[in-house]
Amino acid sequence: MNRYTRILAIFTAAYIVLALIWWSFLLFHKNEALYESNLQLREMADQYGFHPAPPIPEKTETVRIYRRQRMMIIGESLFILISVSIGIWLIFRSYMQEQGIIRQRRNFLLSITHELKTPLTAMRLAFETIQKRDLSRDQLSRLITSSVREADRLTETVNNLLLTARMDRKYVPRLESRSLSDAVENWKVACQNHWPDRQISFQLDSPPQTSVVTDWSGLDIIFRNLMENAVKYSGLEAPIKAVILTNNTHFCLTVSDSGPGIPPSEKNRIFDMFYRIGNEDTREGKGTGLGLYLVREIVHQNKGKIKLRSNEPQGSRFIIQMPI
Ligand code: ADP
Repeated sequence: MNRYTRILAIFTAAYIVLALIWWSFLLFHKNEALYESNLQLREMADQYGFHPAPPIPEKTETVRIYRRQRMMIIGESLFILISVSIGIWLIFRSYMQEQGIIRQRRNFLLSITHELKTPLTAMRLAFETIQKRDLSRDQLSRLITSSVREADRLTETVNNLLLTARMDRKYVPRLESRSLSDAVENWKVACQNHWPDRQISFQLDSPPQTSVVTDWSGLDIIFRNLMENAVKYSGLEAPIKAVILTNNTHFCLTVSDSGPGIPPSEKNRIFDMFYRIGNEDTREGKGTGLGLYLVREIVHQNKGKIKLRSNEPQGSRFIIQMPI
């Protein structure tokens, strides 16, 4: 819908409501006028003793008809006005929802293009350098390490895309047993490989040898996405903390960062598919808006809970509870 069509739609809706109010007032006044003239006619008929056909109703009958019609006009006008207003509001709401979807789709296309292109360009550049120049072993190793990291990033994006496509056909949790110490060790190693320069600490608040049966592959995806966000949205020096604990019924993972935090107005929306805070034209950070959507879907399919709190003194804290 372009600007002119939008103005025309708003004008038409306003015209319908105003016309309705105006016609209701007019009808109300016509009813009053009819009542007055019927009363006068009745008075004249009584005074001069003439009896026209059809006969003029008695005064009490005139009052009754007047009141009934007044109630009818007020009632029906209000009913039509409320129905029309609800109709206009529903159309407006679905229009706004459609605009939101169009904006998100556009954001997604821009971000996914960027997410796929950036690692490919970086890898191509690295390979060209290796091909054209005589490099020392050290330089070669650094270029290869950065290419592997870019390839990992590409794999991560494609994995998230595939998983999102699979979510349409419903994610099926896969239960398996893992000891807490193994799980924490795997996550520690993954963090060291992915983000060697970041301060990421782990705290295990349950006996390490405890074996837990839950959807561990789902938890791996959740952990990776929460960590990725914590790293992405907080400064290089900002510490990140993962706390793991279990009780008889639940496994609980908390990831806290000291980044900018999430404004209260965005707290529910960030879990929507493709939703990213801000505008793709001005945003600098990379991403596709799929990470938290996947987290929420996996948690829900496992009948778990997800909570988002503010971290003290700043940042955000994602708390995931999964049944065991
Ligand atoms: P993205 O690929 O953009 O990171 P996500 O679904 O993972 O997509 O996150 C959605 C949005 O929520 C992000 O664009 C970001 O604005 C916000 N967000 C997520 N995690 C954090 C965090 N730890 N700190 C601040 N903002 C965050």
